[in-house]
Amino acid sequence: MKIRFLITSVLSLAVILSVFSLLFLYTYYDSEDYTVNAIQGPNEKINLIIDPGHGGADGGAVSITGTYESAINLSIAIKAEQISALLGYNPILTRYSDVIDYPEDAVTIRAKKVADQKSRVSLITSTANPVLISIHQNKYTSSGPYGAQVFYSNTDGSNELAEHLQLLLSENTDTGKRNSAVQIPDSIYLMNAINCPGVLVECGFLSNESEANLLEDNEYQLKLAIIIIGGTVGFLNQLK
Ligand SMILES: [Zn+2]
Repeated sequence: MKIRFLITSVLSLAVILSVFSLLFLYTYYDSEDYTVNAIQGPNEKINLIIDPGHGGADGGAVSITGTYESAINLSIAIKAEQISALLGYNPILTRYSDVIDYPEDAVTIRAKKVADQKSRVSLITSTANPVLISIHQNKYTSSGPYGAQVFYSNTDGSNELAEHLQLLLSENTDTGKRNSAVQIPDSIYLMNAINCPGVLVECGFLSNESEANLLEDNEYQLKLAIIIIGGTVGFLNQLK
């Protein structure tokens, strides 16, 4: 029953998504300066890589209801994978479960995290024509901040993709918060170690009660996945 519901939801939302993509393409069709040569030549196939942040020994942030960020990231990433497949992309995920196999010499949590991040980077850098979408949830010391925010790598094409996704997230998520896309801090290893276009989407704040409830909701996660993948595919289609 659950599977049937998911398939029905994904299919009906895929229809909405197609209309959405067409609308977006139409809107931007005449935009002359809207090109990102770094992302692809006309005949090169893009390989989408979806990175559900954290996992294994690293749960990431914890929501005020006690849910780990790693679980929410994975749930959104799996929905994003299904939507990408419907649109003709077969993305690679940097992890498919909350269990991660670490090297034997990685004993401490820090060593495990370092080994895991290095293995994700090597997956990304060894993939042909990759575009990276890393999925995370934000947290702050107070409950005030809310809304999705997109960060971009310092690689060609990342800024443009991030601004495109930020606009869509601001306009289509339930919070309606208009954040700006910003460059990723130097401290985030993975996003600074890649050499392809890459964005990190902080889908919302786990420290804000009403947004945390949304982020833990299956249908809201599906909505986020649709916006992120629909936006990315719409963006890539314009470059063809
Ligand atoms: Zn995170």
